[in-house]
Amino acid sequence: MIITEKKALKEILESLKEYKKIFLVGCGECAATAKTGGEPELAAMKAELEKQGKVVTGTCMPEAPCVAAKLKAELARNMKALRECEAVLVLACGLGVQSVKDNDRLSLTVLPALNTVFGAVMDAQGDFYEKCSLCGECVLSITAGICPITLCSKGLLNGPCGGVDKGKCEVDKDKDCAWVLIYKELEKKNKIGKIKEIQPAKDFKKTTRPHKLVMNK
Ligand code: SF4
Ligand code: SF4
Repeated sequence: MIITEKKALKEILESLKEYKKIFLVGCGECAATAKTGGEPELAAMKAELEKQGKVVTGTCMPEAPCVAAKLKAELARNMKALRECEAVLVLACGLGVQSVKDNDRLSLTVLPALNTVFGAVMDAQGDFYEKCSLCGECVLSITAGICPITLCSKGLLNGPCGGVDKGKCEVDKDKDCAWVLIYKELEKKNKIGKIKEIQPAKDFKKTTRPHKLVMNK
């Protein structure tokens, strides 16, 4: 899932300074789970904006604003309030914000209320951890399921740097060195030989943006 954090109110108000009437869009998936764009956060944002003298013409919370089919239905249901507003403030990740812009038929100003921070897994306690950097060439099969691109501070592909100290990372002493974790995991699985498999440099053509996956030609 995509992790977001709320922008400072000052920054949000600065982006809204030319607009009085605002429509709010939340996100029923990632931002709701991260407690940045669900119903309570929409209500809190509405109250904050009204306290600042803004008029909130309406709010909606598509199940997933990054999915056009789900977003469009919500926007259509709220067309009256959308026609009354001067700007749309989106409490979702950058994907959600751009999806609202792409699917808005009224050419409204669409603005972000959140910063998009990272993609994460959620553990059983409900905490979020970044585990994958979407590199396009997954090496988990030879690194015992531990991603060196994301978990090593330098993204090293072929073993640790010289700075590892008692199993900790030289960049962040509170963090385990990813390559020590990989070594221990390979050892546990009796696959330590894999540590010697040299990985070629990444093909950075694969990280050329923007990516696309066309399903319907
Ligand atoms: S190697 Fe790491 S960053 Fe690349 S796809 Fe696999 S998990 Fe993601
Ligand atoms: S100490 Fe380990 S995790 Fe930290 S930068 Fe070096 S190899 Fe990467």
